[in-house]
Amino acid sequence: MPTAPLKVVIVGGGTAGWMSAAGLVRLLASADYDLTLIESDEIGTVGVGEATLPHIKTFNDMLGINEAEFMRDTQATFKLGIEFVGWDKPGDAYIHPFGTFGEPWAGLDFQHHWTRAMLAGEDVGPLHDYSYAIEAANNAAFEFPNEDTKSIRSTYAYAYHFDAGLYANFLRGWAMARGVSRIEGQIVDVGRNAGSGHVETVTLKSGAVIAGDLFIDCSGFRSLLLGQTMGVAWQDWSEWLPCDRAFAVPCARTEPLLPYTRATAQPGGWIWRIGLQHRTGNGHVFSSAFCSEDQARETLLGQLDGAALAEPRLLRFQAGRRAKAWEGNVIGIGLAGGFLEPLESTSIFLIQAAVTDLANLMPTRGGIDRRLADEYNRLFEVHYDRTRDFIVLHYCANRREGEPLWDHVRNMRLPDSLAHKIALFEANAAAPDYKYGLFSRDSWLAVLVGQGIVPRGYNRLADSLTLDELGSKLRDLKRRIRTNAAAMTGHGDFIANYCPAPTAAKPMESAA
Ligand code: FAD
Repeated sequence: MPTAPLKVVIVGGGTAGWMSAAGLVRLLASADYDLTLIESDEIGTVGVGEATLPHIKTFNDMLGINEAEFMRDTQATFKLGIEFVGWDKPGDAYIHPFGTFGEPWAGLDFQHHWTRAMLAGEDVGPLHDYSYAIEAANNAAFEFPNEDTKSIRSTYAYAYHFDAGLYANFLRGWAMARGVSRIEGQIVDVGRNAGSGHVETVTLKSGAVIAGDLFIDCSGFRSLLLGQTMGVAWQDWSEWLPCDRAFAVPCARTEPLLPYTRATAQPGGWIWRIGLQHRTGNGHVFSSAFCSEDQARETLLGQLDGAALAEPRLLRFQAGRRAKAWEGNVIGIGLAGGFLEPLESTSIFLIQAAVTDLANLMPTRGGIDRRLADEYNRLFEVHYDRTRDFIVLHYCANRREGEPLWDHVRNMRLPDSLAHKIALFEANAAAPDYKYGLFSRDSWLAVLVGQGIVPRGYNRLADSLTLDELGSKLRDLKRRIRTNAAAMTGHGDFIANYCPAPTAAKPMESAA
């Protein structure tokens, strides 16, 4: 006998709400699930979130989105990594690339060979010289990775910079065309079952009552259902990540169009710079314990490389996550579930992971099996806690001595999981990959070495090559990287040919 579809109500129409709607309508059978999204024009969205990780391409491909069309519609550019300026000490810079360092030799990860040559006093240069993505980024060049995995041009991936508001609009159109219903209105009341505590209805300002079986809370920092209604506790991580404010401001685009995000350390935090087709997004993330709002605003405006296009906008936040993301029949996705500062552009990835995990563990009409919720919560913790460790690494391993924020984060007690990861690398250049969660070995290597952590040893299996053999392999690799990257197209030219956005498109006033 046919049963009615499970009624899923998504609360919130920011990036989290529309990624959830689009992902679920694509992955789940339409006869089994009825998807409705409620968003409030009066409240609006957070309006930031412009830099992404390569996983977003998998998400868009899964939806079947045409890349060039999506890039045109969102004023997008390509991203090969993130440049960290002054994070180890003033004057230094390194790139965390979306790609590998070198190649495995004698069955062993590249960093062991590089470490061995470096400790033997060979003139091998920095690890970062052995990344194709970094060489391309430094040349402000872009081309699609080669599909032939033997080619040096296959050793990188890419992500996008895009206008966050335009991306949510794009997904909204996409999801609504495939059956997601949208209701505009502000939720003013939530009805719960007296016995189970499950949410049954939400009431809008207009008086309309919307009933559901499963509620996905994408209401942003308010966490209307997960935090406020279900009372799921907040775990505060400001002990490790003290930045709690950001000013965001767009400015005029400048040349060349860089294929990477820049994050520049400041005395009280750091400044992001993200080049889009129609403008550059900028923001100063800072800790109010170490920098006043006035100082932060002035520092940001003083470092723009084009004319400001709007007044700087202040956002307040706290690093952390809810103790659980799934409680009863409520699942919190996006800012409603947790927040990590945008240093490694991880929030949109965390939304994507949440949508994928939910689709895999989605309840049916038969009711919610607690074991599915427990597994979802386990994955949620893994994703957030591992991402947190990676972000904290950028702060704790610094040599910006005499600056109060940086002295504080250099001397703080670290999460045990991070202390273990650093100790392993120091001992023998080991950087084991996770099965789940961000980031991969090469990402850890980029930041460990970039922040000045030097291994004392290496895996002795690397001794199977003679130092002469190793030296010649390293020189050959560097040459192949340089020659191939030098032949690439400039990023600006590539965009102009592949996905030029209409120049008439208006910059989003509030976004940055
Ligand atoms: P929001 O965008 O706040 O959306 C919340 C939705 O809920 C809105 O539609 C709102 O109208 C609705 N709502 C709320 N209350 C009600 C109610 N009562 N009734 C009806 N509707 C309601 N992430 C990245 O991946 N890369 C970045 O570069 C990046 N940069 C960032 C910079 C800063 C300073 C900050 C603060 C965040 C950044 N993020 C970044 C995070 C990113 O912006 C968010 O993860 C992303 O935008 C998702 O937000 P959201 O959809 O959860 O919340």
